[in-house]
Amino acid sequence: MIPDFRYFVTEARKIGAKIIVRHNLTVMFEPQKEDLPRFFAENQVEVVSSLPYFLQQQTDAQRGAGVFDKSIEALKRLNAVGYGIEENLILNLVCNPVGAFLPPSQSAIEADFKRELKQRYDISFNNLYTITNMPIARYLDWLRRSGNEASYMTKLVNAFNPATVEGLMCRNLISVDWRGFLFDCDFNQMLELPVSLKLPQTVFDFDLETFTSRRIMTANHCFGCTAGAGSSCGGVVAA
Ligand code: SF4
Repeated sequence: MIPDFRYFVTEARKIGAKIIVRHNLTVMFEPQKEDLPRFFAENQVEVVSSLPYFLQQQTDAQRGAGVFDKSIEALKRLNAVGYGIEENLILNLVCNPVGAFLPPSQSAIEADFKRELKQRYDISFNNLYTITNMPIARYLDWLRRSGNEASYMTKLVNAFNPATVEGLMCRNLISVDWRGFLFDCDFNQMLELPVSLKLPQTVFDFDLETFTSRRIMTANHCFGCTAGAGSSCGGVVAA
């Protein structure tokens, strides 16, 4: 949806960067977006897309009517250019629970997704990432409206797993917004919680050594990353 998206990808490719695009499958049906699968393949982009479940009812309940059918068609188009099939064209899916509970075992549900998507729609993909719903933004609104906020937070806190801490996203990655401002992760970016004010605030002043030993800005939502097997943009963090 960003006007300079293709320029950004092709320039990043020129400098040899590994490119992972978090791709909203329904975008493929917008004007001038139909050729995205081929564009991704030409630039060896790793595609990560959300599919809440392999059944229509649950997916449309979370994302809106018609999203499931469009997502299935988009996945078929990605398969058609080799995604999820050829070795160097990686297609990963992401699912998160529809409700106020923690995700199921990632390996178990990945096996279910692979079997069901293949049998029902002849769709292939590489990996399934389970992601815990973070108690922020629209999901937090829903928790409040449905009276689930306190019980969900208690669930996350009680499921704190110290083994997840080393693999948290904020330990290895940094988020940069479109203006160049820095955040410890994309959740903090959504919350407009910047990196520590003792640090350079923009990518233009970024210094790897300083940031490697920085103090990360945490808050209640961080329990979403540390519950159970942990959660990150790459799925669980502690097997
Ligand atoms: S939400 Fe908290 S624990 Fe999770 S990546 Fe961001 S800063 Fe780290």
